[in-house]
Amino acid sequence: MSVDPAKCTACRLSANRQQVVLPDGPISGLLAVGEAPGRQEDAQGVGFVGIAGRNLDRVMAACGVQRDGYARTNIVRCRPPDNRKPRSDEVAACAHWLDQVLRDWQPRVILAVGQSAAERLTPPWSGSYLDHVEQLLAGQIPMPRYQGIPVVPMPHTSPLAWNRRRPDGSAIRDLGKRAVERAVRLAQPT
Ligand code: SF4
Repeated sequence: MSVDPAKCTACRLSANRQQVVLPDGPISGLLAVGEAPGRQEDAQGVGFVGIAGRNLDRVMAACGVQRDGYARTNIVRCRPPDNRKPRSDEVAACAHWLDQVLRDWQPRVILAVGQSAAERLTPPWSGSYLDHVEQLLAGQIPMPRYQGIPVVPMPHTSPLAWNRRRPDGSAIRDLGKRAVERAVRLAQPT
């Protein structure tokens, strides 16, 4: 018997959520995958509506993609208590929902928003996450794929991450913009 995705109780995150935040947006070439719903997403039942989501909307718009031009989901669909990082068993429990979206929607590219999403969708790397993103964007290592779909990792767009600088002084948001530009380009029909 199939489970109603809006009523899933497969992991402990179901205990404290207000609602499951389902994928939304058009079935388009570009799917953004974040870590987890936050407080506003949990309250509204819509993904990427908090400050981090609005930051992503802004940089997408700067790259010519409005909110109705890309799709969104998370590696877990229920808000973790106090916005903690999802645990590995919770990510594993939710994995089949994300995989189903990829099968059904068949995006041309996945934009992994933040380290947790990248850890879920790409092979392990050594060193810092931001250096890894830099190397990928510079072509020093091949862009990873998940289920055959290219994955472009980017920094998280939460204010805490987005407004910081790296040790070399470069802005984290500039790295994020470059990653979004790459994802938008890869999402274009060939
Ligand atoms: S996080 Fe995913 S697996 Fe866990 S209860 Fe919510 S929808 Fe189900």
